[in-house]
Amino acid sequence: MLTFLGTGGAFNTERGNTSAYFELGTELFIIDAGEDVFAKLINKNLFNGKTRVNIFITHLHSDHVGSLGTLIAYLYIKAFNMDRSKVCVYFPSESINELLTIQGIKQDMYTLFINRWDELYIDGYEKQPEYIFDPTHHTDELNYNNETNCFSLEFSLRDEFSFFYSGDTCEFNEKLMNTYAFDYIYHEVTANKGATVHFQYEKLLELTKDMPADQKKKITLMHLDQDFNIEKAKADGFSIAGEE
Ligand SMILES: [Zn+2]
Ligand SMILES: [Zn+2]
Repeated sequence: MLTFLGTGGAFNTERGNTSAYFELGTELFIIDAGEDVFAKLINKNLFNGKTRVNIFITHLHSDHVGSLGTLIAYLYIKAFNMDRSKVCVYFPSESINELLTIQGIKQDMYTLFINRWDELYIDGYEKQPEYIFDPTHHTDELNYNNETNCFSLEFSLRDEFSFFYSGDTCEFNEKLMNTYAFDYIYHEVTANKGATVHFQYEKLLELTKDMPADQKKKITLMHLDQDFNIEKAKADGFSIAGEE
């Protein structure tokens, strides 16, 4: 379903920043835009022929928004001839405006959707996808202005597909105990057993121990640190982002 541009944790330069995209009609959907993401989007020629680009952001850590400013500037100035309606950013807090404003990316260069859930209107597309941002806990420092500023994303197109994409999180969303509700599940994970800001692999293993193999296989692991044991995770029954 999703194509990954990178699958690594913040410091894993080999796998790159975790980010993914998909296309619907002539529109491009991108999830997160960390430091190395803009270059990858350009190198893959992903803006060619697109009528709109939709960028979903899970939280404001650099490995998730590090190239967002450049991406917006490029889309607004180069790709869409200064039509802000073609450059859509989805993040349920106006704190993203502050971050971008300081970077010189004015609010008239993009359209911000701050709703936690909404229906999307895609030109020439009969069905309308829906999304929901679920607030989740990652690091306390992200709670800028006392707001929760980290989210997981649910995205669905009726009768076609649905997926769950965890933000960085130390929580396992209880919705995932019903994996049948989603066609695809993408979850961040860390090998660090004492981790308090990322989701511990050992915990995931424990929570999913009674899950049927076909459901477990639906869980695709991402945001992988250098020391994460991919072969073991595969043997344990999970999928690995970028290797589907
Ligand atoms: Zn991260
Ligand atoms: Zn993070």
